[in-house]
Amino acid sequence: MTTTQPLIPRLCIIGVGLIGGSLARALREVGAVGEVIGAGRGEDNLRTAVRLGVVNRYDTDVTRAVTDADVVVVAVPLGAISSVLRAVAPHLTPDCVLTDVGSAKGSVVADVERIYGAIPPNFVPGHPIAGTEKSGVEASFATLFQRRRVILTPLAETAVTAYRLIRRMWELTGAEVVDMGVRHHDAVLAATSHLPHVLAYTLVDTLARLDDRAEVFRYAAGGFRDFTRIASSDPQMWHDICVANREQLLEMIALFSADLAQLAEAIRRDDRAAILAAFQRAKRARDNLYLD
Ligand code: NAP
Repeated sequence: MTTTQPLIPRLCIIGVGLIGGSLARALREVGAVGEVIGAGRGEDNLRTAVRLGVVNRYDTDVTRAVTDADVVVVAVPLGAISSVLRAVAPHLTPDCVLTDVGSAKGSVVADVERIYGAIPPNFVPGHPIAGTEKSGVEASFATLFQRRRVILTPLAETAVTAYRLIRRMWELTGAEVVDMGVRHHDAVLAATSHLPHVLAYTLVDTLARLDDRAEVFRYAAGGFRDFTRIASSDPQMWHDICVANREQLLEMIALFSADLAQLAEAIRRDDRAAILAAFQRAKRARDNLYLD
């Protein structure tokens, strides 16, 4: 009797939270992995990951967890990636493919280059464009990536075999995989994800410090809830993203601030045509996005 080998016989996920846990669940569901080993800081979350059937086993020592792994996925917050990479680098087998899921790519690529001295051919940077405002393994679910995009930002040094393996891994979760340059990724995500999170956090923070905040929030309706849902996301994660994608995010904040100042000026001057024109432009653009 012949048995077919799974795509990834031994997978190690470092950081079994929303993203790492959902990836493990999705791959286990389609039989794409043999054994899944979880690694992280403490035992509480990892014990839960075993209990929920997300990983087969865990090790709190990342250097042991990556032993003989065919693929290592680094799914910790951006601020922790460099220390994790530094710890595991000497312990990966030469054929092991290393990938990550960080929401900014320039900082991760720079970390890898600094730690390895050069980009290793078996490193494939990635970023799934999927998530919720929840964190931790209990928030993970197998269908998170279905019909979502995953961006890979392979580098000139990236080996085709490593790239193909990671591409296939994500396709098996139901995601559509697209390639992008590192800088382009960070510019696009600063505009579509990082700036909106900064705006949502700032809006809630501003209103929450008003003297009559209780009254203000009592009358907050659906629009406020929709607009600010993402301000419930993990503050540490978004702190890390702002720090990691500083340059591109500052450019978007400057652009947005200029437009907001222009709108404030139109309101001050009672320039009704300018106000209406700005809102009409935005409505047209929003209606054409087919987001709902
Ligand atoms: P998460 O649910 O908080 O999971 C991260 C896991 O990493 C935690 O469960 C934790 O597990 C471990 N961890 C946290 N801090 C650590 C540290 N200092 N050192 C080592 N391990 C640590 O976060 P997530 O939403 O999955 O995000 C993980 C990565 O995915 C981030 O890089 C983020 O930028 C990226 N990402 C997030 C989203 C999203 O919408 N959430 C979308 C795309 C990409 P232990 O408690 O077991 O240590």
